[in-house]
Amino acid sequence: MTRAAGLERLAAFLRDEGAEYAGSRNFDLGPEARPTTSALSPYLRRRLITETEVVTAAVAAFGDEGAEKFVSEVFWRTYFKGHLETHPAAWTGYQALAAEGHEQLAVEPGLRRTYEAAIEGRSGIDCFDAWASELVETGWLHNHARMWFASIWIFTLRLPWALGADFFMRQLVDGDPASNTLSWRWVAGLHTRGKHYVARAENIRRYTDGRFDPVGLDEYPDALDEPMPPREVPLSPADAVPDGAVALLLHLDDLHPESLSLGTAWVVRIGGLVAHAEGASDRVKAADEAAMADGLARAKAHFGCPAGHAHVGWADSLPAVTAWAPVGPSAMALPEGCLRVRRAWDEAAWPSATRGYSRMRKVTPQLIWGAAD
Ligand SMILES: Cc1cc2nc3c(=O)[nH]c(=O)nc-3n(C[C@H](O)[C@H](O)[C@H](O)COP(=O)(O)OP(=O)(O)OC[C@H]3O[C@@H](n4cnc5c(N)ncnc54)[C@H](O)[C@@H]3O)c2cc1C
Repeated sequence: MTRAAGLERLAAFLRDEGAEYAGSRNFDLGPEARPTTSALSPYLRRRLITETEVVTAAVAAFGDEGAEKFVSEVFWRTYFKGHLETHPAAWTGYQALAAEGHEQLAVEPGLRRTYEAAIEGRSGIDCFDAWASELVETGWLHNHARMWFASIWIFTLRLPWALGADFFMRQLVDGDPASNTLSWRWVAGLHTRGKHYVARAENIRRYTDGRFDPVGLDEYPDALDEPMPPREVPLSPADAVPDGAVALLLHLDDLHPESLSLGTAWVVRIGGLVAHAEGASDRVKAADEAAMADGLARAKAHFGCPAGHAHVGWADSLPAVTAWAPVGPSAMALPEGCLRVRRAWDEAAWPSATRGYSRMRKVTPQLIWGAAD
């Protein structure tokens, strides 16, 4: 998991799948087939490569129109990040529900049997079982498979949605607090209230090229409801970067320090903070560690100063500066007093991410051509 591997993947996507993306992205042809999408999410999630880079590269390769669908998908990521930032209770609420769900499993044998059969790929629904195994074996699922899987989990197996989101967070190599939590909420009908995503057998047959023929799906369920939807809070302002010598803290949400705007600050020490998702699989942890090692090595070469894991007292008496850590494990683990710098991309987009996605779309051109980082 390195920036070089991410750039290679981006180049391969622009050369091979990119031109066909809009027409083929909904097809999940299975783990053995060539991808129909970019498979860039593990790199974007850790910002080994940035949204600005992939969007400008796609527009340069395919033009505004040719790149439109891909750009709008990248924007979904930005939208979810900004939305969770202004609705942090969606994250804390999910965490509380997942913990509650695990407690329920301990005392309700029927629920536990259904849950275990689901995560072990023994539900009896062919596609669902194949995706459960694929997720555990590879750390990955196609977007359409994630939608179908979440829908079947919630509406056919009638399992708590937060336990499904928790299963994804543990296994996905691109596991992301915003995209994952809010996508599960969206499928359930909690994000756009009352509008849920229903997996239909015909749609699955079609977009898996006939690999599956699922039976027993509940195709007419009601959306889930919740008494207290997450409240909107104002976006916290970013901090100003001080002049002079600083210690730079890297974390798993932003591993491209070379493009971070640090004004007149002068980086003399670099520390790395690794905060895995709770219960992350060994594959996810290994990807996190590899990405951090890569980030530290590049930062050391770029700033020409020592870099290593951020042990207690690593910053000495220097002001510590870091890229903004959005809601999630990195933000929770940031040391007190660390100054947080926001990228121009997020600064431009997040204020428009407080409601539905359509409002975000209006800032697209401004972001593509105006964002420096
Ligand atoms: C239930 C569910 C859970 C999900 N959990 C995650 C998660 O934990 N982490 C994660 O990164 N994405 C998640 N997604 C969104 C999406 O499935 C993945 O981003 C996408 O499959 C990644 O594949 P790709 O890189 O080939 O995407 P491409 O189609 O090539 O898109 C390019 C980039 O745009 C972003 N993107 C694309 N689609 C979406 C989307 N629907 N929502 C948000 N961003 C998107 C990703 O950063 C992606 O790398 C989830 C979707 C669902 C339905």
